Amino acid sequence: MKPQFPHLDIHSHDLSRAGSAVVNLSPGDEIPAGAYCSVGVHPWNADKATEATFARMAAMAQSESVVAIGECGLDALKGPSLEVQQVAFERQVAVSEQAGKPLIIHAVKTVNEIIALRRRLNPAQPWIIHGFRGNPQQAAELLRHGFFISLGERFNAQTAAMIPADRLFFETDESTLPIELIVENINTHRNAKN
Ligand SMILES: [Zn+2]
Repeated sequence: MKPQFPHLDIHSHDLSRAGSAVVNLSPGDEIPAGAYCSVGVHPWNADKATEATFARMAAMAQSESVVAIGECGLDALKGPSLEVQQVAFERQVAVSEQAGKPLIIHAVKTVNEIIALRRRLNPAQPWIIHGFRGNPQQAAELLRHGFFISLGERFNAQTAAMIPADRLFFETDESTLPIELIVENINTHRNAKN
């Protein structure tokens, strides 16, 4: 069966969830058999990425097991300079566009920068902000610019209530909780609204 995106759990670092989640790989990692994967350079590692790294990523992106590019992005609190992170991010936007696969984005205190990049680069692929913990105003701004939002174990309850179902994803990321429980927690706030 051909892997399909979206899946219930769109982002996990736990390889034991392979098959039931989109597991996150780095370029050069082996694709687990039967897995859905994303492949990317995390912004914390942006200074270690070389031409060979991006070539490996582009090759892996051709696999039908790879359903997204990332996580990639910008982190103002950790990692190399934002200039270095942005170079690596834009390379991955290019891979995402060439492969025709969505982008999974790590954005820490850089939502405005990511919105500006989407406006400038005008990509065709969906951009998904993963592990989003921002408030409803920030979420509204992202939604207005066409972004998708993925929520995990920790999230802003008011934000969970206001994201339209067709713009919302769920993820385990680093959590040890089952995805079903995370979805249930998030839906409690969504249902409370109605
Ligand atoms: Zn992650």
